[in-house]
Amino acid sequence: YTKGKTYKLTILHTNDHHGRFWSNRDGEVGLAARATLIKQLREEAKTNGASVLLLDAGDVNTGVPQSDMLDAEPDFKGMNAIGYDVMAVGNHEFDKTLKTIYQQRKWAGFPFVSANIYDKWTKKRVFPSHVTKKLGDLKVTIFGLTTEDTPLKSNPKNTADLKFTKSVEEAKTLVPTLRPNADVLIALTHVGHYPDEKHGADAPGDVTLARQVKGIDLIVGGHTQKPLFEPDIQNGTIIVQAYEWGKYVGKVDLEILDGKVTLKSYKLIPVNLKDTAEKIKPDEKVEALLRPYKERGDKTLLVQIGNADSEYIGRRDVVRFQETNLGNLVARAYREKFKADIGLTNSGGIRDSIYPGKITIETVGMVLPFGGEVVSTEMTGKEIKEFFEHVIFKLTPGSGSFAQTNNVDIVADKKTSKIKSFKVGGVDLDESKKYLMALPEFIAAGGDKYPAVKFRKFGYVDADLLKEFIASQKEMKSSDFAPRGSIKIE
Ligand code: ATP
Ligand code: ZN
Repeated sequence: YTKGKTYKLTILHTNDHHGRFWSNRDGEVGLAARATLIKQLREEAKTNGASVLLLDAGDVNTGVPQSDMLDAEPDFKGMNAIGYDVMAVGNHEFDKTLKTIYQQRKWAGFPFVSANIYDKWTKKRVFPSHVTKKLGDLKVTIFGLTTEDTPLKSNPKNTADLKFTKSVEEAKTLVPTLRPNADVLIALTHVGHYPDEKHGADAPGDVTLARQVKGIDLIVGGHTQKPLFEPDIQNGTIIVQAYEWGKYVGKVDLEILDGKVTLKSYKLIPVNLKDTAEKIKPDEKVEALLRPYKERGDKTLLVQIGNADSEYIGRRDVVRFQETNLGNLVARAYREKFKADIGLTNSGGIRDSIYPGKITIETVGMVLPFGGEVVSTEMTGKEIKEFFEHVIFKLTPGSGSFAQTNNVDIVADKKTSKIKSFKVGGVDLDESKKYLMALPEFIAAGGDKYPAVKFRKFGYVDADLLKEFIASQKEMKSSDFAPRGSIKIE
Protein backbone atom coordinates (compact mmCIF):
# COMPACT_ATOMS: atom_id res chain seq x y z
CA TYR A 1 0.00 0.00 0.00
CA THR A 2 0.95 3.61 -0.25
CA LYS A 3 1.69 5.43 2.99
CA GLY A 4 -0.81 8.07 3.97
CA LYS A 5 -3.38 6.90 1.41
CA THR A 6 -6.85 5.87 2.58
CA TYR A 7 -8.30 2.83 0.80
CA LYS A 8 -11.98 1.95 0.79
CA LEU A 9 -12.93 -1.70 0.55
CA THR A 10 -16.43 -3.18 0.48
CA ILE A 11 -16.84 -6.88 1.21
CA LEU A 12 -20.14 -8.37 0.05
CA HIS A 13 -20.93 -11.83 1.36
CA THR A 14 -23.38 -14.72 1.49
CA ASN A 15 -23.34 -18.21 3.05
CA ASP A 16 -25.36 -21.42 3.35
CA HIS A 17 -27.10 -20.91 0.02
CA HIS A 18 -28.30 -24.55 0.04
CA GLY A 19 -29.67 -24.85 -3.47
CA ARG A 20 -31.83 -21.70 -3.47
CA PHE A 21 -30.98 -20.63 -7.02
CA TRP A 22 -34.62 -19.83 -7.78
CA SER A 23 -37.02 -17.66 -5.74
CA ASN A 24 -39.43 -19.42 -3.39
CA ARG A 25 -43.23 -19.49 -3.46
CA ASP A 26 -43.39 -16.08 -1.83
CA GLY A 27 -40.99 -14.56 -4.34
CA GLU A 28 -38.24 -14.40 -1.74
CA VAL A 29 -34.50 -14.89 -2.38
CA GLY A 30 -33.03 -16.32 -5.63
CA LEU A 31 -29.88 -15.59 -7.58
CA ALA A 32 -31.55 -13.31 -10.14
CA ALA A 33 -32.65 -10.80 -7.49
CA ARG A 34 -29.32 -11.23 -5.71
CA ALA A 35 -27.61 -10.31 -8.99
CA THR A 36 -29.53 -7.03 -9.27
CA LEU A 37 -28.76 -6.12 -5.67
CA ILE A 38 -25.06 -6.85 -6.04
CA LYS A 39 -24.84 -4.89 -9.28
CA GLN A 40 -26.40 -1.94 -7.50
CA LEU A 41 -24.01 -2.25 -4.55
CA ARG A 42 -21.04 -2.41 -6.92
CA GLU A 43 -22.17 0.81 -8.59
CA GLU A 44 -22.60 2.53 -5.24
CA ALA A 45 -19.14 1.42 -4.19
CA LYS A 46 -17.65 2.69 -7.43
CA THR A 47 -19.23 6.10 -6.87
CA ASN A 48 -17.70 6.13 -3.39
CA GLY A 49 -14.29 5.10 -4.67
CA ALA A 50 -14.40 1.71 -2.93
CA SER A 51 -13.14 -1.60 -4.30
CA VAL A 52 -15.46 -4.59 -3.97
CA LEU A 53 -14.94 -8.27 -3.22
CA LEU A 54 -17.80 -10.77 -3.30
CA LEU A 55 -17.37 -13.82 -1.07
CA ASP A 56 -19.37 -16.91 -0.19
CA ALA A 57 -18.74 -18.86 3.00
CA GLY A 58 -19.82 -22.28 1.71
CA ASP A 59 -22.63 -24.84 1.76
CA VAL A 60 -23.92 -24.01 -1.69
CA ASN A 61 -25.10 -27.62 -1.96
CA THR A 62 -28.17 -29.44 -0.77
CA GLY A 63 -31.66 -28.41 0.13
CA VAL A 64 -33.72 -27.93 -3.02
CA PRO A 65 -34.45 -30.93 -5.26
CA GLN A 66 -34.28 -28.87 -8.49
CA SER A 67 -30.69 -28.01 -7.55
CA ASP A 68 -29.73 -31.32 -5.93
CA MET A 69 -30.71 -33.36 -8.98
CA LEU A 70 -28.36 -31.24 -11.12
CA ASP A 71 -25.42 -31.24 -8.67
CA ALA A 72 -26.04 -27.52 -8.10
CA GLU A 73 -25.05 -26.64 -11.65
CA PRO A 74 -27.55 -23.74 -11.80
CA ASP A 75 -26.32 -22.42 -8.46
CA PHE A 76 -22.66 -22.33 -9.44
CA LYS A 77 -23.34 -20.99 -12.93
CA GLY A 78 -25.54 -18.30 -11.41
CA MET A 79 -22.82 -17.37 -8.94
CA ASN A 80 -20.39 -17.19 -11.82
CA ALA A 81 -22.70 -14.77 -13.62
CA ILE A 82 -22.94 -12.61 -10.50
CA GLY A 83 -19.15 -12.49 -10.32
CA TYR A 84 -18.18 -14.12 -7.04
CA ASP A 85 -14.47 -13.86 -6.26
CA VAL A 86 -13.90 -16.70 -3.79
CA MET A 87 -15.83 -19.36 -1.89
CA ALA A 88 -14.99 -21.35 1.23
CA VAL A 89 -15.62 -25.08 1.12
CA GLY A 90 -18.55 -26.04 3.38
CA ASN A 91 -19.33 -29.41 4.93
CA HIS A 92 -22.31 -29.86 2.57
CA GLU A 93 -20.00 -29.60 -0.42
CA PHE A 94 -19.15 -33.21 0.62
CA ASP A 95 -22.73 -34.33 0.08
CA LYS A 96 -21.18 -34.73 -3.37
CA THR A 97 -18.00 -36.54 -4.35
CA LEU A 98 -14.71 -34.71 -4.77
CA LYS A 99 -15.05 -35.28 -8.50
CA THR A 100 -18.36 -33.39 -8.50
CA ILE A 101 -16.83 -30.60 -6.41
CA TYR A 102 -14.12 -30.17 -9.05
CA GLN A 103 -16.82 -30.05 -11.72
CA GLN A 104 -18.68 -27.44 -9.68
CA ARG A 105 -15.50 -25.38 -9.48
CA LYS A 106 -15.39 -25.36 -13.29
CA TRP A 107 -18.98 -24.13 -13.45
CA ALA A 108 -18.20 -21.52 -10.82
CA GLY A 109 -15.03 -20.22 -12.40
CA PHE A 110 -13.86 -18.83 -9.04
CA PRO A 111 -11.56 -20.53 -6.53
CA PHE A 112 -12.77 -22.66 -3.59
CA VAL A 113 -10.46 -22.24 -0.58
CA SER A 114 -9.87 -24.35 2.51
CA ALA A 115 -6.65 -24.59 4.49
CA ASN A 116 -7.57 -27.59 6.62
CA ILE A 117 -8.58 -30.30 4.13
CA TYR A 118 -5.80 -32.70 3.17
CA ASP A 119 -5.52 -35.78 1.02
CA LYS A 120 -4.79 -38.66 3.43
CA TRP A 121 -2.39 -40.31 1.01
CA THR A 122 -0.42 -37.47 -0.57
CA LYS A 123 -0.70 -35.31 2.59
CA LYS A 124 -1.27 -32.32 0.33
CA ARG A 125 -4.04 -29.79 0.58
CA VAL A 126 -7.00 -30.60 -1.63
CA PHE A 127 -7.90 -26.93 -2.13
CA PRO A 128 -5.72 -23.82 -2.08
CA SER A 129 -5.45 -22.47 1.46
CA HIS A 130 -5.82 -18.87 0.29
CA VAL A 131 -5.96 -16.46 -2.61
CA THR A 132 -4.56 -12.95 -2.82
CA LYS A 133 -6.45 -10.22 -4.62
CA LYS A 134 -4.58 -7.13 -5.76
CA LEU A 135 -6.88 -4.12 -5.78
CA GLY A 136 -4.63 -1.46 -7.23
CA ASP A 137 -1.71 -1.48 -4.79
CA LEU A 138 -3.78 -2.93 -1.94
CA LYS A 139 -3.20 -6.62 -1.21
CA VAL A 140 -6.14 -8.55 0.23
CA THR A 141 -5.55 -12.16 1.25
CA ILE A 142 -8.47 -14.49 1.82
CA PHE A 143 -7.93 -17.88 3.41
CA GLY A 144 -10.50 -20.63 3.87
CA LEU A 145 -11.45 -22.95 6.75
CA THR A 146 -13.97 -25.78 6.89
CA THR A 147 -15.52 -27.30 10.00
CA GLU A 148 -13.46 -30.27 11.12
CA ASP A 149 -16.77 -32.01 11.96
CA THR A 150 -17.35 -32.58 8.25
CA PRO A 151 -16.49 -36.32 8.24
CA LEU A 152 -19.06 -36.84 11.00
CA LYS A 153 -21.62 -34.62 9.33
CA SER A 154 -21.55 -35.80 5.75
CA ASN A 155 -21.52 -39.00 3.74
CA PRO A 156 -18.39 -40.86 4.97
CA LYS A 157 -17.83 -42.24 1.48
CA ASN A 158 -17.07 -38.77 0.16
CA THR A 159 -14.51 -37.92 2.83
CA ALA A 160 -12.84 -41.34 3.19
CA ASP A 161 -9.59 -40.21 1.54
CA LEU A 162 -9.50 -36.84 3.26
CA LYS A 163 -8.19 -35.56 6.55
CA PHE A 164 -9.78 -32.51 8.14
CA THR A 165 -7.39 -30.88 10.58
CA LYS A 166 -8.47 -28.62 13.43
CA SER A 167 -9.36 -25.29 11.85
CA VAL A 168 -8.08 -23.09 14.67
CA GLU A 169 -4.75 -24.95 14.84
CA GLU A 170 -4.37 -24.67 11.08
CA ALA A 171 -4.99 -20.92 11.29
CA LYS A 172 -2.38 -20.61 14.05
CA THR A 173 0.34 -21.79 11.69
CA LEU A 174 -1.05 -20.21 8.52
CA VAL A 175 -1.83 -16.66 9.68
CA PRO A 176 1.75 -15.75 10.67
CA THR A 177 2.89 -16.71 7.15
CA LEU A 178 0.14 -14.72 5.40
CA ARG A 179 0.00 -11.65 7.61
CA PRO A 180 3.31 -10.01 6.61
CA ASN A 181 2.33 -10.00 2.92
CA ALA A 182 -1.27 -8.87 3.30
CA ASP A 183 -2.68 -5.38 3.80
CA VAL A 184 -6.02 -6.92 4.68
CA LEU A 185 -6.34 -10.51 5.92
CA ILE A 186 -9.76 -12.16 5.68
CA ALA A 187 -10.75 -15.60 6.97
CA LEU A 188 -13.56 -17.02 4.84
CA THR A 189 -14.86 -19.76 7.08
CA HIS A 190 -17.44 -22.47 7.28
CA VAL A 191 -16.95 -23.28 10.95
CA GLY A 192 -19.91 -21.47 12.56
CA HIS A 193 -20.43 -18.52 14.85
CA TYR A 194 -21.05 -19.64 18.42
CA PRO A 195 -21.55 -16.63 20.73
CA ASP A 196 -18.92 -16.58 23.47
CA GLU A 197 -17.46 -19.84 22.11
CA LYS A 198 -20.44 -21.89 23.32
CA HIS A 199 -20.12 -24.52 20.61
CA GLY A 200 -21.35 -27.46 22.68
CA ALA A 201 -20.70 -30.77 20.97
CA ASP A 202 -19.77 -29.05 17.69
CA ALA A 203 -16.23 -28.09 16.70
CA PRO A 204 -14.98 -24.62 17.70
CA GLY A 205 -15.99 -21.77 15.42
CA ASP A 206 -15.28 -18.16 14.49
CA VAL A 207 -15.21 -16.72 18.03
CA THR A 208 -12.57 -19.23 19.14
CA LEU A 209 -10.64 -18.49 15.96
CA ALA A 210 -10.70 -14.75 16.62
CA ARG A 211 -9.75 -15.16 20.28
CA GLN A 212 -6.93 -17.60 19.70
CA VAL A 213 -5.39 -16.33 16.48
CA LYS A 214 -4.17 -12.76 16.41
CA GLY A 215 -3.93 -10.88 13.14
CA ILE A 216 -7.13 -11.64 11.24
CA ASP A 217 -8.90 -8.42 10.22
CA LEU A 218 -12.24 -9.89 9.23
CA ILE A 219 -13.95 -13.29 9.50
CA VAL A 220 -16.67 -13.87 6.94
CA GLY A 221 -18.45 -16.96 8.20
CA GLY A 222 -21.26 -19.42 7.69
CA HIS A 223 -22.52 -22.79 8.91
CA THR A 224 -24.56 -21.80 11.99
CA GLN A 225 -27.12 -20.11 9.73
CA LYS A 226 -27.89 -17.29 12.12
CA PRO A 227 -27.99 -13.68 10.96
CA LEU A 228 -25.44 -11.39 12.60
CA PHE A 229 -27.22 -8.07 12.28
CA GLU A 230 -24.37 -6.53 14.26
CA PRO A 231 -20.79 -7.71 13.74
CA ASP A 232 -19.29 -9.59 16.66
CA ILE A 233 -15.92 -8.02 17.43
CA GLN A 234 -13.51 -10.32 19.26
CA ASN A 235 -9.87 -9.62 20.01
CA GLY A 236 -9.93 -6.85 17.39
CA THR A 237 -11.30 -9.18 14.68
CA ILE A 238 -14.63 -8.41 13.03
CA ILE A 239 -16.93 -11.44 12.62
CA VAL A 240 -19.90 -11.40 10.23
CA GLN A 241 -22.40 -13.93 8.86
CA ALA A 242 -25.41 -13.45 6.55
CA TYR A 243 -28.01 -15.98 7.77
CA GLU A 244 -28.84 -18.55 5.06
CA TRP A 245 -30.41 -19.30 1.64
CA GLY A 246 -29.46 -15.91 0.18
CA LYS A 247 -32.02 -14.20 2.38
CA TYR A 248 -29.53 -11.40 2.91
CA VAL A 249 -26.40 -10.06 1.30
CA GLY A 250 -23.92 -8.85 3.92
CA LYS A 251 -22.08 -5.59 3.27
CA VAL A 252 -18.94 -4.68 5.21
CA ASP A 253 -17.37 -1.28 4.54
CA LEU A 254 -13.73 -1.02 5.54
CA GLU A 255 -11.21 1.77 5.43
CA ILE A 256 -7.52 1.03 5.40
CA LEU A 257 -4.89 3.59 6.28
CA ASP A 258 -1.23 2.79 6.87
CA GLY A 259 -1.95 -0.87 7.54
CA LYS A 260 -4.79 -0.15 9.96
CA VAL A 261 -8.17 -1.62 9.02
CA THR A 262 -11.25 0.20 10.34
CA LEU A 263 -14.88 -0.91 10.13
CA LYS A 264 -16.97 1.97 8.79
CA SER A 265 -20.35 0.26 8.49
CA TYR A 266 -22.03 -3.12 8.32
CA LYS A 267 -25.43 -4.11 7.02
CA LEU A 268 -27.42 -7.19 6.09
CA ILE A 269 -29.55 -6.32 3.07
CA PRO A 270 -32.68 -8.47 2.54
CA VAL A 271 -33.38 -10.11 -0.81
CA ASN A 272 -37.12 -9.74 -1.33
CA LEU A 273 -38.06 -11.07 2.11
CA LYS A 274 -41.81 -10.97 2.69
CA ASP A 275 -41.87 -8.26 5.32
CA THR A 276 -39.44 -5.88 3.64
CA ALA A 277 -41.00 -3.08 1.67
CA GLU A 278 -38.38 -2.58 -1.02
CA LYS A 279 -38.59 -5.14 -3.80
CA ILE A 280 -35.66 -5.99 -6.04
CA LYS A 281 -36.32 -6.68 -9.70
CA PRO A 282 -34.68 -9.96 -10.75
CA ASP A 283 -31.84 -9.56 -13.23
CA GLU A 284 -33.16 -10.65 -16.62
CA LYS A 285 -29.95 -12.21 -17.85
CA VAL A 286 -29.44 -14.31 -14.75
CA GLU A 287 -33.10 -15.30 -14.73
CA ALA A 288 -32.88 -16.38 -18.37
CA LEU A 289 -29.78 -18.42 -17.57
CA LEU A 290 -31.49 -20.22 -14.70
CA ARG A 291 -35.04 -20.68 -16.00
CA PRO A 292 -34.29 -23.78 -18.13
CA TYR A 293 -32.80 -25.53 -15.07
CA LYS A 294 -35.82 -24.66 -12.97
CA GLU A 295 -38.21 -25.90 -15.67
CA ARG A 296 -36.23 -29.09 -16.20
CA GLY A 297 -36.40 -29.76 -12.48
CA ASP A 298 -40.09 -29.01 -12.18
CA LYS A 299 -40.93 -31.32 -15.07
CA THR A 300 -39.49 -34.35 -13.30
CA LEU A 301 -40.23 -33.30 -9.74
CA LEU A 302 -43.77 -31.92 -9.72
CA VAL A 303 -45.28 -35.34 -10.33
CA GLN A 304 -47.81 -36.47 -7.73
CA ILE A 305 -47.13 -39.80 -6.01
CA GLY A 306 -49.51 -39.64 -3.07
CA ASN A 307 -51.49 -37.58 -0.65
CA ALA A 308 -50.94 -36.48 2.95
CA ASP A 309 -53.99 -36.28 5.21
CA SER A 310 -52.04 -34.26 7.78
CA GLU A 311 -48.51 -33.07 8.44
CA TYR A 312 -45.84 -35.72 8.65
CA ILE A 313 -43.49 -33.98 11.03
CA GLY A 314 -39.91 -33.40 9.96
CA ARG A 315 -39.35 -30.03 11.62
CA ARG A 316 -35.98 -30.18 13.30
CA ASP A 317 -37.16 -28.83 16.67
CA VAL A 318 -39.45 -31.86 16.90
CA VAL A 319 -37.92 -34.68 14.89
CA ARG A 320 -34.54 -34.42 16.66
CA PHE A 321 -36.20 -34.80 20.08
CA GLN A 322 -39.03 -37.30 19.76
CA GLU A 323 -40.56 -40.06 17.66
CA THR A 324 -42.66 -38.60 14.83
CA ASN A 325 -45.00 -39.97 12.17
CA LEU A 326 -42.49 -39.00 9.48
CA GLY A 327 -39.65 -40.70 11.33
CA ASN A 328 -41.78 -43.84 11.50
CA LEU A 329 -42.72 -43.56 7.82
CA VAL A 330 -39.10 -43.21 6.67
CA ALA A 331 -37.85 -46.05 8.89
CA ARG A 332 -40.71 -48.25 7.65
CA ALA A 333 -39.96 -47.48 3.99
CA TYR A 334 -36.33 -48.53 4.58
CA ARG A 335 -37.32 -51.69 6.47
CA GLU A 336 -39.83 -52.86 3.88
CA LYS A 337 -37.41 -52.54 0.97
CA PHE A 338 -35.06 -55.01 2.66
CA LYS A 339 -37.83 -57.06 4.26
CA ALA A 340 -35.77 -56.39 7.35
CA ASP A 341 -36.77 -56.90 10.99
CA ILE A 342 -35.91 -53.35 12.02
CA GLY A 343 -35.89 -49.99 10.26
CA LEU A 344 -33.77 -47.13 11.57
CA THR A 345 -32.81 -43.62 10.55
CA ASN A 346 -31.01 -40.67 12.11
CA SER A 347 -33.49 -37.81 12.43
CA GLY A 348 -30.95 -35.32 11.05
CA GLY A 349 -31.28 -37.01 7.67
CA ILE A 350 -34.90 -35.80 7.63
CA ARG A 351 -34.80 -32.19 6.48
CA ASP A 352 -38.43 -31.14 6.01
CA SER A 353 -42.02 -32.12 6.83
CA ILE A 354 -44.49 -33.58 4.39
CA TYR A 355 -47.31 -31.05 4.44
CA PRO A 356 -51.01 -31.87 4.02
CA GLY A 357 -52.07 -32.23 0.39
CA LYS A 358 -50.30 -33.51 -2.70
CA ILE A 359 -47.10 -35.45 -2.19
CA THR A 360 -44.78 -35.05 -5.18
CA ILE A 361 -41.28 -36.26 -5.97
CA GLU A 362 -40.16 -32.76 -5.00
CA THR A 363 -41.68 -33.28 -1.54
CA VAL A 364 -39.66 -36.45 -1.05
CA GLY A 365 -36.52 -34.66 -2.23
CA MET A 366 -37.09 -31.92 0.36
CA VAL A 367 -37.46 -34.52 3.11
CA LEU A 368 -34.43 -36.58 2.08
CA PRO A 369 -32.07 -34.37 0.08
CA PHE A 370 -28.73 -36.08 0.66
CA GLY A 371 -29.14 -38.89 -1.85
CA GLY A 372 -27.43 -41.27 0.57
CA GLU A 373 -27.69 -45.04 0.32
CA VAL A 374 -29.74 -47.22 2.60
CA VAL A 375 -27.92 -50.43 3.57
CA SER A 376 -28.58 -53.55 5.60
CA THR A 377 -26.75 -55.05 8.52
CA GLU A 378 -27.15 -58.42 10.18
CA MET A 379 -26.59 -58.73 13.91
CA THR A 380 -27.45 -61.11 16.70
CA GLY A 381 -30.11 -60.08 19.20
CA LYS A 382 -27.36 -59.46 21.74
CA GLU A 383 -25.49 -57.15 19.36
CA ILE A 384 -28.70 -55.33 18.43
CA LYS A 385 -29.39 -54.68 22.09
CA GLU A 386 -25.90 -53.29 22.68
CA PHE A 387 -26.19 -51.20 19.52
CA PHE A 388 -29.40 -49.59 20.77
CA GLU A 389 -28.02 -49.09 24.27
CA HIS A 390 -25.30 -47.00 22.63
CA VAL A 391 -27.84 -45.16 20.45
CA ILE A 392 -30.14 -44.38 23.36
CA PHE A 393 -27.58 -43.38 25.98
CA LYS A 394 -24.36 -42.31 24.24
CA LEU A 395 -25.42 -40.00 21.41
CA THR A 396 -25.82 -36.22 21.78
CA PRO A 397 -29.38 -35.43 22.90
CA GLY A 398 -31.43 -33.25 20.56
CA SER A 399 -28.97 -33.64 17.69
CA GLY A 400 -29.37 -35.10 14.21
CA SER A 401 -28.34 -38.47 15.62
CA PHE A 402 -31.68 -38.93 17.41
CA ALA A 403 -33.07 -42.30 16.25
CA GLN A 404 -36.36 -42.83 14.43
CA THR A 405 -37.28 -46.51 14.21
CA ASN A 406 -39.75 -49.00 12.85
CA ASN A 407 -40.93 -52.36 14.22
CA VAL A 408 -39.29 -52.16 17.64
CA ASP A 409 -40.60 -51.61 21.17
CA ILE A 410 -37.82 -50.77 23.55
CA VAL A 411 -37.95 -49.96 27.23
CA ALA A 412 -34.68 -48.63 28.58
CA ASP A 413 -33.62 -47.94 32.16
CA LYS A 414 -32.28 -44.44 32.75
CA LYS A 415 -30.44 -45.46 35.93
CA THR A 416 -28.44 -48.36 34.55
CA SER A 417 -28.24 -47.21 30.87
CA LYS A 418 -29.43 -50.71 29.95
CA ILE A 419 -32.36 -51.96 27.93
CA LYS A 420 -34.98 -53.70 30.09
CA SER A 421 -37.19 -54.98 27.35
CA PHE A 422 -36.79 -55.23 23.58
CA LYS A 423 -39.46 -56.43 21.19
CA VAL A 424 -39.19 -56.85 17.44
CA GLY A 425 -42.53 -57.02 15.69
CA GLY A 426 -44.16 -57.48 19.09
CA VAL A 427 -42.03 -60.51 19.98
CA ASP A 428 -39.28 -60.56 22.61
CA LEU A 429 -35.79 -60.27 21.20
CA ASP A 430 -33.86 -63.55 21.11
CA GLU A 431 -30.23 -62.77 21.97
CA SER A 432 -28.83 -65.61 19.90
CA LYS A 433 -31.01 -65.13 16.82
CA LYS A 434 -29.89 -63.06 13.82
CA TYR A 435 -31.80 -59.94 12.88
CA LEU A 436 -31.69 -57.80 9.76
CA MET A 437 -31.75 -54.03 10.11
CA ALA A 438 -32.12 -51.43 7.34
CA LEU A 439 -30.42 -48.08 7.97
CA PRO A 440 -28.68 -45.19 6.17
CA GLU A 441 -25.11 -45.92 5.15
CA PHE A 442 -24.29 -42.58 6.78
CA ILE A 443 -24.84 -43.98 10.28
CA ALA A 444 -23.87 -47.58 9.45
CA ALA A 445 -20.41 -46.22 8.62
CA GLY A 446 -20.20 -44.43 11.96
CA GLY A 447 -21.62 -41.02 11.04
CA ASP A 448 -23.34 -39.04 13.83
CA LYS A 449 -21.24 -41.05 16.33
CA TYR A 450 -23.20 -44.24 15.74
CA PRO A 451 -21.28 -47.47 16.33
CA ALA A 452 -19.92 -48.47 12.93
CA VAL A 453 -21.31 -51.81 11.73
CA LYS A 454 -20.60 -54.24 8.90
CA PHE A 455 -23.13 -53.62 6.18
CA ARG A 456 -24.18 -54.65 2.70
CA LYS A 457 -25.03 -52.28 -0.12
CA PHE A 458 -27.47 -52.71 -2.96
CA GLY A 459 -27.44 -49.21 -4.47
CA TYR A 460 -30.73 -48.16 -2.88
CA VAL A 461 -31.02 -44.38 -2.50
CA ASP A 462 -32.96 -43.07 0.52
CA ALA A 463 -35.36 -40.77 -1.37
CA ASP A 464 -36.12 -43.48 -3.92
CA LEU A 465 -37.17 -45.88 -1.17
CA LEU A 466 -39.48 -43.31 0.40
CA LYS A 467 -40.92 -42.43 -3.00
CA GLU A 468 -41.51 -46.11 -3.82
CA PHE A 469 -43.14 -46.78 -0.48
CA ILE A 470 -45.50 -43.79 -0.67
CA ALA A 471 -46.40 -44.60 -4.28
CA SER A 472 -47.18 -48.21 -3.30
CA GLN A 473 -49.71 -47.17 -0.64
CA LYS A 474 -53.31 -47.05 -1.85
CA GLU A 475 -54.43 -44.56 0.72
CA MET A 476 -51.80 -43.53 3.20
CA LYS A 477 -53.13 -42.56 6.62
CA SER A 478 -50.89 -40.63 8.98
CA SER A 479 -52.59 -42.35 11.94
CA ASP A 480 -50.90 -45.58 10.83
CA PHE A 481 -47.57 -43.93 11.57
CA ALA A 482 -48.50 -42.08 14.76
CA PRO A 483 -45.84 -42.09 17.49
CA ARG A 484 -46.45 -45.00 19.81
CA GLY A 485 -43.57 -44.81 22.24
CA SER A 486 -41.24 -47.14 20.35
CA ILE A 487 -38.39 -46.21 22.63
CA LYS A 488 -39.34 -45.52 26.23
CA ILE A 489 -36.79 -44.39 28.76
CA GLU A 490 -37.89 -44.92 32.34
P1 ATP B 1 -25.10 -26.70 7.92
O1 ATP B 1 -26.11 -26.63 6.85
O2 ATP B 1 -24.97 -25.44 8.67
O3 ATP B 1 -23.80 -27.28 7.54
P2 ATP B 1 -25.50 -29.21 9.09
O4 ATP B 1 -26.35 -29.96 8.14
O5 ATP B 1 -24.08 -29.55 9.19
O6 ATP B 1 -25.75 -27.67 8.95
P3 ATP B 1 -27.45 -29.69 10.95
O7 ATP B 1 -28.46 -29.01 10.11
O8 ATP B 1 -27.51 -29.56 12.42
O9 ATP B 1 -26.01 -29.30 10.52
O10 ATP B 1 -27.48 -31.22 10.55
C1 ATP B 1 -26.53 -32.12 10.96
C2 ATP B 1 -27.17 -33.46 10.89
O11 ATP B 1 -27.54 -33.74 9.55
C3 ATP B 1 -26.24 -34.57 11.26
O12 ATP B 1 -26.23 -34.72 12.65
C4 ATP B 1 -26.86 -35.74 10.53
O13 ATP B 1 -27.88 -36.32 11.33
C5 ATP B 1 -27.51 -35.12 9.32
N1 ATP B 1 -26.73 -35.36 8.09
C6 ATP B 1 -25.77 -34.59 7.56
N2 ATP B 1 -25.29 -35.11 6.44
C7 ATP B 1 -25.97 -36.26 6.23
C8 ATP B 1 -25.95 -37.25 5.22
N3 ATP B 1 -25.12 -37.17 4.18
N4 ATP B 1 -26.80 -38.27 5.33
C9 ATP B 1 -27.65 -38.36 6.38
N5 ATP B 1 -27.71 -37.46 7.35
C10 ATP B 1 -26.89 -36.42 7.29
ZN1 ZN C 1 -22.50 -26.17 7.22
